Amino acid sequence: MAFMWTCPECGRDNFERTISIENAALSQQDKEEIIEQLQLDGPEELEEMLASGREFALAPKDVNCPHCKQNFNTIDPGDTDGY
Ligand SMILES: [Zn+2]
Repeated sequence: MAFMWTCPECGRDNFERTISIENAALSQQDKEEIIEQLQLDGPEELEEMLASGREFALAPKDVNCPHCKQNFNTIDPGDTDGY
């Protein structure tokens, strides 16, 4: 699964690998980041999602353009529905 984004600085398309979520591989810090990124109510909701067996993946929170070396935040706080 890949995530595509267009660099707002140089206008080139970039591909990033998404972060697959597998319960066994998650550290506490990973879980906290996922909860924050998916805007879950808390660890219980994450556990429910993982327990459901549904596969899901996250786009990276920050991306770095290989062309112009700029970092961008992929999360626009004004439009969380766009994710
Ligand atoms: Zn760029």
